Amino acid sequence: MKEVINEQNINKILEKTISPSPDVVKKILEKALKKEGLTLQETGYLLNTEDEELIGKMFQTSNKIKDEIYGERLVLFAPFYVSNFCVNDCKYCGFHCSNPEKRKKLTLEEVKDQVKILERMGHKRLLLEFGEDPAENPINYIVDVIKTIYNTKVGNGEIRRVNVNIAAATVEDYKKLKEAGIGTYQLFQETYHQETYKEVHKGPKSDYERQLFAHDRAMQAGLNDVGLGVLFGLYNYKFEVLALLSHSEYLEKKYNVGPHTISVPRFQPAATVNTNFPHEVSEDQLLKIISILRMAVPYTGLIITTREKPETRAKAFDIGISQTSAASSTSPGGYGKEKALEQFSLQDSRDMDQILKSILNQNLLPSYCTACYRLNRTGETIMKLIKTGKIHELCRPNAILTFKEYLEDYASQDVKELGVKVIQKYLEKISDDQIKKKTLAKLKRIENGERDLYF
Ligand code: SF4
Repeated sequence: MKEVINEQNINKILEKTISPSPDVVKKILEKALKKEGLTLQETGYLLNTEDEELIGKMFQTSNKIKDEIYGERLVLFAPFYVSNFCVNDCKYCGFHCSNPEKRKKLTLEEVKDQVKILERMGHKRLLLEFGEDPAENPINYIVDVIKTIYNTKVGNGEIRRVNVNIAAATVEDYKKLKEAGIGTYQLFQETYHQETYKEVHKGPKSDYERQLFAHDRAMQAGLNDVGLGVLFGLYNYKFEVLALLSHSEYLEKKYNVGPHTISVPRFQPAATVNTNFPHEVSEDQLLKIISILRMAVPYTGLIITTREKPETRAKAFDIGISQTSAASSTSPGGYGKEKALEQFSLQDSRDMDQILKSILNQNLLPSYCTACYRLNRTGETIMKLIKTGKIHELCRPNAILTFKEYLEDYASQDVKELGVKVIQKYLEKISDDQIKKKTLAKLKRIENGERDLYF
């Protein structure tokens, strides 16, 4: 296990890098601009930087890196909670089994109804969420849910990529997810600090190593896009960031591909969750974390969700976030009238229209693109494309085309007006004339009713 997380080593780095001089920090920021990532020690220096001016420089640097790699695009998705049955008693989660609230698991008919609602909102990409309960949520049920989602279409709507967050499983079960055609397999360690991990977990999830090596088993099953994350607030954030990066380095070394995404959730209140965690992360600290991650792993997608307030999200988009949820619910059935127990409360309750307006006003381009995964550009292949910068020539047109579909099928008049301008602005930025020409032709075809056109 020490190969993945060496607590002693992480603590030593944090001690050694305390109070870095401005020169040391500036040198690290110069190196970050080369987009080759950072070592754990360099990351330690940045984490231990408290000077506001230097933190401002960090934000400028990560903004530049984000622009060069991800440009103006912001990929949108919705979480889809299918079942809140759970046998674990995690102290931070509303689904913990000692919560006496009634549980809900969607039937396949209810899954269809929820998916139709999500499709009418314009979503093309979902993240499925299930509590851990082998009796209520067995793998075959999960696979049936995935198949149902892919087969449910309403009007021009369809779900084109299903990402999945289920409890740590076996290679055999991950193979079933692979066969069902999932995109990313996402699982958070919650906290990498073993003692804290033990304190906050009860049930099968309390097995630290089962959780830590889940991504290995997923990779062995052929799921080569995996997502990592930490629930910030459970333990010291500086330790967690170094541990997260150490996990990422381990995966990259072993499988030639690091995590596809990293998520940065902060603890939020939930029903019957009364614990006051002593390591609360402030907004400023969260933004610093995002900026540092953007520099340390420039080619890994960074995700922020509607757990955060609109203002925090807008700042985070600028300094490193590449994917975000929109108009979400954290309860099974939550997109309809019949809401069940929710996992935690959300800080951004705006509807899709309001969220899109603010994204467009920030001069960002919402993207519903799922092309890479559908063309098998996953794992090492996609990382190579990103690292050579060639991905821009695919992602920009694909974002334009998928957002154009949204404008045609679902947008309000206000979003249409703003959206047309933003599309025009970024069409002009396509540098390859051939691709620009082809994009214009595809846009015409979308106006004429065709859908799902991509590069
Ligand atoms: S975090 Fe996951 S495993 Fe723990 S109680 Fe919540 S749903 Fe269950």
